[in-house]
Amino acid sequence: MTRLDQSLFAEHAYLPDGWRRNVLLEWEANGTLTAVTPDTAAVPAGVRKAAGPVLPGMPNLHSHAFQRAMAGLTEYRANATDNFWSWRDLMYRFAARITPEGLAAVAQWLYIEMLKAGYTSVCEFHYVHHAQDGSRYANQAELAQRVVDAASASGIGMTMLPVLYQYSGFGSRAPRDDQQRFINTPESLLDLLGTLRAARPESAALRYGVAPHSLRAVSADSLRTLLGGIDRNAPVHIHIAEQTAEVDACVETEGARPVQWLLDRFDVDSRWCLVHATHVDANETLALAKSGAVAGLCLTTEANLGDGLFPAQEYLDAHGRIGIGSDSHIGVDWRAELRLLEYGQRLTRRQRNVLASAQVTHVADRLFDAALDGGAHATGRAVGALQAGRRADWLVLDADHASVAEHAPGAWLSGVVFCEHGETPVRDVYAGGVQVVENRRHRDEAGAYARYRVALADLLK
Ligand SMILES: [Zn+2]
Repeated sequence: MTRLDQSLFAEHAYLPDGWRRNVLLEWEANGTLTAVTPDTAAVPAGVRKAAGPVLPGMPNLHSHAFQRAMAGLTEYRANATDNFWSWRDLMYRFAARITPEGLAAVAQWLYIEMLKAGYTSVCEFHYVHHAQDGSRYANQAELAQRVVDAASASGIGMTMLPVLYQYSGFGSRAPRDDQQRFINTPESLLDLLGTLRAARPESAALRYGVAPHSLRAVSADSLRTLLGGIDRNAPVHIHIAEQTAEVDACVETEGARPVQWLLDRFDVDSRWCLVHATHVDANETLALAKSGAVAGLCLTTEANLGDGLFPAQEYLDAHGRIGIGSDSHIGVDWRAELRLLEYGQRLTRRQRNVLASAQVTHVADRLFDAALDGGAHATGRAVGALQAGRRADWLVLDADHASVAEHAPGAWLSGVVFCEHGETPVRDVYAGGVQVVENRRHRDEAGAYARYRVALADLLK
């Protein structure tokens, strides 16, 4: 029997084996798909019909919510060698000022922007833990809890990754004054996670993991203690090899490149997400691909910060897992991330369709499938496919949009990823079976935007 408020009929839906016709999607009250049936003879009586082709919702595997408020404010030359590290100085100034109320407002607006773009899950790499003066909040999980609540209010699924940030550099260097809001130990972070988990228990929409910030900020011992204190399947995310200066410092103090160092010492597998992994040599590329870990690529941020290019072709050809993240949120659009992933390769190799394969000749299809699979692994949640047992997360394309209309289904993803002519083709979005975006508007958009502006004005005062 089909429950009318928990079913949708799509003339076209993108299932794990590609575009299928006349698909009936059915889910239960907790937001999990119970049946996905292609080739349904007719629209069952009273069942709603999707306004256009249906794609699985995209997981966003890397976010620092408060950085949304900085987008567009660092696009000028601050000194002759303006680079990542000068951007980081401004980020620290914002991190020093943000209040619990401000963080809640920025995060909720950001998650609404994500949903409107068709991201239905987010992994939040959350590192601002303490009060402005570095003292502990009465509730040690105050800020993380605000972020979890912002996700739940917006409707997006969340993997919350509280960050271990112990040192200011390789060789266990003491933290700096402007890092006091981040600093903790494995023990205090696990304690915070326990508090958070008790206040906001895990559910189909919420999963917990941990994020050792980077090899700069933890030691081998503290990483071991952290991993020993969590469920052995919980997601583990880490920033790695984003900048050449970081690679050089790691070689100098630890005697190995960062990715190699990590792979040699820890059992890195599919629960791990190595965010950026930009600067990997040929051996690291193959070893990382073999490990089953996800390379968390954040193309618009990496371009914005001048990080460099990940060797995507070699890695994908070695069956490496990738996912995408919006990280600093200079842009919040999975289509732009996938486009830039390919364009970086085209510009450096002076070729076209570099990231296609012999089996999947359309670049957009290959990258979309890869980012769904890797992104889902990174969340540690049952997402990333229109399939019974997964979360009822999808987006509905506008069938009349110029990137889709009159094209054959096999060209839809190419149009959606590579064409950019103004208005988004993403019309409606469902997360956990709830329609949160209708005709490009989120249900709470006006109020959330007003609160975001208040928070931003306060940060810029
Ligand atoms: Zn990051």
